[in-house]
Amino acid sequence: MAKQYAVIGLGRFGSSVAARLYESGQEVLGVDVNMERVEDSNEFVTHAVIADSTDPESLKAIGIRNFDTVIVAIGNDIQASILSVLLLKELGVKKVIAKALNKLHGQVLEKVGADWVIFPERDMGIRVAHQLLSPNVLNF
Ligand code: ATP
Repeated sequence: MAKQYAVIGLGRFGSSVAARLYESGQEVLGVDVNMERVEDSNEFVTHAVIADSTDPESLKAIGIRNFDTVIVAIGNDIQASILSVLLLKELGVKKVIAKALNKLHGQVLEKVGADWVIFPERDMGIRVAHQLLSPNVLNF
């Protein structure tokens, strides 16, 4: 059965998470404050809305607590990212995944309740190294 995901922040990271989930047949709501980003996401999300995730009333209006998993893909605005995670957990979202820009940002995200913190550059670097070290991979 399809799960319901919301992706907040439709930059490169958020868009690629949303698109992959959508391609796999999941229900994906895209959320961004930026109207252009919301319009551009129409091909790879089920629905998209313009909303500010630091505003509790907007989150309630979206019905955010009905989503199985919410991905906070806001990076550069650290304050918005932290506040969004805090509000999502307070509103009762079970699983909140958040992208961190650096170690300290990641620690704060964990403190405010993020269930899984992702460090895209670090995690991708580790993955590339694993691939290179894997005996099944052709030599580069
Ligand atoms: P990426 O590195 O994934 O390409 P980016 O460089 O566009 O992202 P970020 O600051 O990480 O920049 O923002 C990702 C998206 O989050 C942007 O499209 C931005 O409009 C959106 N965003 C920022 N703050 C909020 C907010 N409070 N509510 C909803 N969306 C937001």
